Amino acid sequence: MGHPRVDAIAREAREAAAAAASSAELERVRVAYLGRQGLLTQLLRALGTLPPQERPLVGAAANEAKRALEALLDERLAAAQARERRDARARARLDLTLPGRRPPLGVVHPLTRVHDEIVAIFVGLGFAVAEGPEVETDEYNFELLNLPPDHPARDMQDTFYISDAALLRTHTSPVQIRTMKAQRPPVRIICPGAVYRRDADVTHSPMFHQVEGLAVDRRITMGDLKGTLELFAREMFGPRSRIRFRPSFFPFTEPSAEVDVLCFLCAGGGCRVCRQSGWLEILGSGMVHPQVLRNVGYDPEEVTGWAFGMGIERIAMLKYGIDDIRLFFDNDLRFLRQFA
Ligand SMILES: [Zn+2]
Repeated sequence: MGHPRVDAIAREAREAAAAAASSAELERVRVAYLGRQGLLTQLLRALGTLPPQERPLVGAAANEAKRALEALLDERLAAAQARERRDARARARLDLTLPGRRPPLGVVHPLTRVHDEIVAIFVGLGFAVAEGPEVETDEYNFELLNLPPDHPARDMQDTFYISDAALLRTHTSPVQIRTMKAQRPPVRIICPGAVYRRDADVTHSPMFHQVEGLAVDRRITMGDLKGTLELFAREMFGPRSRIRFRPSFFPFTEPSAEVDVLCFLCAGGGCRVCRQSGWLEILGSGMVHPQVLRNVGYDPEEVTGWAFGMGIERIAMLKYGIDDIRLFFDNDLRFLRQFA
């Protein structure tokens, strides 16, 4: 029994089947020997080309080899599939004892936090939030605010000019102008936003943020301003906060005052941050200059108003004890995560 050529192919096929480790490899062996182009298949198909006396011998041997290989492959395939199913089940099993993975959570930026606190306090007092463009005209940023060309106070605000007439706003005051030109009194607004000045050191950034406030109505007085800012200080810095006014100068207010808050770090006793004075300067304010009211079409005989402006970065630096303004804009996660 047997035939040398058939035996050689059958042996080779058995070895290949024995070496195949997975169902995919076993399938490749099946195709190589029993598929339509497989070696045993081709051998059986070519029986007619053999000499007649060889045909029965080769045919019987090839059929026998084919049956044997089919049986071997079936057996090995069943074992391989069982093994693969076991492995798949093991991979899919959940390990309930593994500790969970917490998705990283961002935190609110300290400037956004202080901005939101200030805005919430004034919205609670009935002020509306007003916004305007960061690229402004010289007219809105300076002239209508009582700062004509060549006014010496323009030097107080080193300006980024885009052209002779266009500039990056140096304060949010043009939003006050825009609002007053668009509506009749009474006006009660706060104007938060980014402003720009050519200034850069540990306490100055070329881009920083302001919140300005404006109230215009009949019989508005400096007393209203003081009462409003006292309330703001208590909400912002704690119920024991006190403020004081110091005479100052701004072209767009008359009279003008710098406002200090009792140092909330040393409660007025004197410390490094307040330079032993017990007070922290937090904002500038005053009664809106009659010329500014006239510039927007209001009658200063009929209505009066006050305005104030403060820097969000300065408040945040005082509140959180930050001594370098650039930390706000470095996006260093080690810094920002401290405000979680
Ligand atoms: Zn202090």
